[in-house]
Amino acid sequence: MAYRAPVSDYAFILDHVVDYARVASTARFSEADRDVVAAIIDEAAKLSNDVMAPLDRGGDLTPARLENGGVISSPGFADAFAQIAEGGWIGMLAEPDNGGMGLPLTLASVVNEMMSGACLSLALEPLMCQGQIEALEHHACDEIKALYLPKLVSGEWCGTMNLTESGAGSDVGALRTKATRNDDGSYDITGQKIYITWGDNDFSGNICHLVLARLPDGGEGTKGISLFLVPKFLPDADGEAGDANSLSVVSLEHKLGIHGSPTCVMDYNGAKGWLVGNEHEGMKCMFTMMNNARLGVGMQGVGVAEAATQKAHAYAMDRVQGRTPLGADGTGAIIDHADVRRMLAVMRADTYVARCISLACGVALDLGRDDPEWQARGAFLIPIAKAFGTDIGHEVAQLGVQVHGGMGFIEETGAAQYARDARITSIYEGTNGIQAMDLVARKLMDGGDAANALLDEIEAFAEAARASLPELAGPVWSAAETLREGLEAVLALDLNDRFAGATAFLRAFARVLGGYYHLKSALAEGEAGTRTRLARFYILRMLPEYTSLLVQARLGASDLYALTTEDLLA
Ligand SMILES: Cc1cc2nc3c(=O)[nH]c(=O)nc-3n(C[C@H](O)[C@H](O)[C@H](O)COP(=O)(O)OP(=O)(O)OC[C@H]3O[C@@H](n4cnc5c(N)ncnc54)[C@H](O)[C@@H]3O)c2cc1C
Repeated sequence: MAYRAPVSDYAFILDHVVDYARVASTARFSEADRDVVAAIIDEAAKLSNDVMAPLDRGGDLTPARLENGGVISSPGFADAFAQIAEGGWIGMLAEPDNGGMGLPLTLASVVNEMMSGACLSLALEPLMCQGQIEALEHHACDEIKALYLPKLVSGEWCGTMNLTESGAGSDVGALRTKATRNDDGSYDITGQKIYITWGDNDFSGNICHLVLARLPDGGEGTKGISLFLVPKFLPDADGEAGDANSLSVVSLEHKLGIHGSPTCVMDYNGAKGWLVGNEHEGMKCMFTMMNNARLGVGMQGVGVAEAATQKAHAYAMDRVQGRTPLGADGTGAIIDHADVRRMLAVMRADTYVARCISLACGVALDLGRDDPEWQARGAFLIPIAKAFGTDIGHEVAQLGVQVHGGMGFIEETGAAQYARDARITSIYEGTNGIQAMDLVARKLMDGGDAANALLDEIEAFAEAARASLPELAGPVWSAAETLREGLEAVLALDLNDRFAGATAFLRAFARVLGGYYHLKSALAEGEAGTRTRLARFYILRMLPEYTSLLVQARLGASDLYALTTEDLLA
């Protein structure tokens, strides 16, 4: 079955779950009203369904390859990228002064989810460009902005992010790429970067690399790092792509998934670059765009989860195996077996939760542009949106394989591709372990205020919902209250003890948020229908997982370190 963007789900969640109307009521986003939102979702859905989704399989079967030092992209990708650019989707978030649409992040996140569900490998290219545009808008000097932004926003030129080196992954501060100053204000960049997504392509006139490097007087660690814009072709006097810069693609990685996305080893050999932001403040610049980038990756997970669920559902409706308990009252296919129905319900319910968390995070970040309390809410939700969204992408895609039985393990159904493609999302843009540590460390530096404000909101809503949906509201209220106790316990731990339970704590928080969003959906539905039935499934079967997770979150690290490294081999 071909991917279909879940358009009605977006509209429902925006209206009834995450209160998008608040965003549209701000002066900044007043133009992104209901009608505009509907039109944007519709157009993006057409592009995703009709242009991008048909390319997904081909990207897997005919990966990007390196020929004569240049990337040859998968069949159809160049044309589809041109259509993405033509539709203005690359500049969705860019300021209108720079040729962008200036859309709220919430809406851009919806579009990013659809594109990722349709064809993750290709969707990564516009996402990389979005990140670069944001970095330049915030930190580049006027000259660089004037030269690069219009071409990046239009899609004429593309952008990449170069942080990772062989000795510097999660620990970016360990990087060794060097920068030296030139007399003309430019810099020479020398070093090797690995795993660079879309480090080259065969469809844009230039590729602009944002590269983290250290100046000779840059100190050790993250504080001594600067950010540079290093184009593949140096702009000539007219601002057009001119002479080739001293950089090359050394090789492409052979990967588990996202075969259509070229993952490049890049060599910079005295390549000319220009400073973005101030010297030694490169990490500060990266932090500006981290929220959007992390939310974007969270949406990748949600997109693949949606696509995997649709495919599994179609297969389960068709595949006949054994006698089902529903007999003539059912479909006769495996979807009528209780265990298959359980898997599909888990897939649907968790995809929904991950989508709601991400869009709630988008709303908080949009409102947070002018309001510190919302900003704190957004900052708190970011690691949850990234880690839970991508964990769910992976888990749901694995369940999709299971629903297919043996055919899930056979490539031709495409179920396995989702499982392979989704796997990377919990690793890049800060592994999910690092996200969880961020949640229990930096995001609790306010003493738990942002977390408690969210729990207050959940409890107040659940309390009010008791009258109409007592069976669902009660467990959600209790979960929020128990999570509050868990939060207090985590706050009392020292840092490494918190880290030992960080992943469990993040998951517990996501589970409780899921209860809240499903409850809200059931209540908004009024007459008990699909959303109420799904809410019941989630709240009664899946929400209770938070209790065991909270046990782990409070345990501390001593039992982990009591296990010796030899024990782990025994
Ligand atoms: C397909 C692909 C595309 C990518 N695209 C890009 C890109 O475009 N640009 C770019 O710059 N990079 C990119 N990356 C790199 C990616 O961001 C890194 O792989 C990621 O940050 C993890 O770094 P690492 O691979 O060195 O793993 P490591 O840092 O070695 O981590 C290994 C394990 O140790 C854990 N760990 C590490 N440090 C800690 C700690 N302090 N506390 C607890 N646990 C820890 C990690 O969570 C992980 O489980 C890409 C990677 C891949 C595979």
